[in-house]
Amino acid sequence: MIVGAVVTGLATVLANGGVDASRVLGIGVGVPGIVEHGPEVLVHGQTFGWESIPLERLLRSGTGLPLDIDNGAKTMSQAELWFGAGRGAQHAVVCLIGSGAGAGIITNGRAHRGSTSSAAEWGHTTVTAGGRACRCGSRGCLEAYVGAEAILDRYGLPLPGDDQESALAALINSYATSARAAEVLDDTARYLGVGIANLINLFNPERIILGGWAGLLLGDQMLPAIRAAARQHSLRHPFAGTLIELGHLGPDAVALGAATLPIERFLNGRPHQRPRRGFA
Ligand SMILES: [Zn+2]
Repeated sequence: MIVGAVVTGLATVLANGGVDASRVLGIGVGVPGIVEHGPEVLVHGQTFGWESIPLERLLRSGTGLPLDIDNGAKTMSQAELWFGAGRGAQHAVVCLIGSGAGAGIITNGRAHRGSTSSAAEWGHTTVTAGGRACRCGSRGCLEAYVGAEAILDRYGLPLPGDDQESALAALINSYATSARAAEVLDDTARYLGVGIANLINLFNPERIILGGWAGLLLGDQMLPAIRAAARQHSLRHPFAGTLIELGHLGPDAVALGAATLPIERFLNGRPHQRPRRGFA
């Protein structure tokens, strides 16, 4: 279903843009989960039941265009680094809060990936031993407190809106009038600050950039509280050198960052082979 939606969306974008497929440098795809670049691209999305999904091979059935696939937090961090709040930074962490939570770590101007590209699975670092159940199967993960799904679950009362985004916006809007909402959101800011403090102590970044649709909604209202909690839980010296700010590119930064992947490949002199004939 997801592959079908991507392939259909791709055809729509090409048609709407009036661009001939032969002139397209490549397709960038940002997805949740760990994206492993081995002999073929595999996606390990433990929180939503994707186990070693050969996404590139699956998408290949619908397009012959060059494909670059990466984790959405990593694509977002590249977008903020190239065009947004991370411009000019050599050491930064870009935090993506949506339904769940992830991050991209930039060290010496480059993405830190680890041995199998799972580095910066920040949402599944533990903030409460034995705490709330997480979608990954563990307990007490940061995501189980600050992801939009978890925030709404912790609130536990009906909210207007038919999706997580409108429900979270309604929750934030009711901060001043609902003690329950204020309590849940204050806790969220505290947990988010703890998560950011851990990043500061571990990676000594110059900047921490908070983005993703839920991160931007929360940060818009609660950035001072998030900063205060980060200050309280991190070492004074690295905290003093860290700017904590919101992403500049809005909720579409994941997609914008995905679009930088084929451009980066091209600029680095590693272009894909041209599309084969017979595909869209
Ligand atoms: Zn988890």
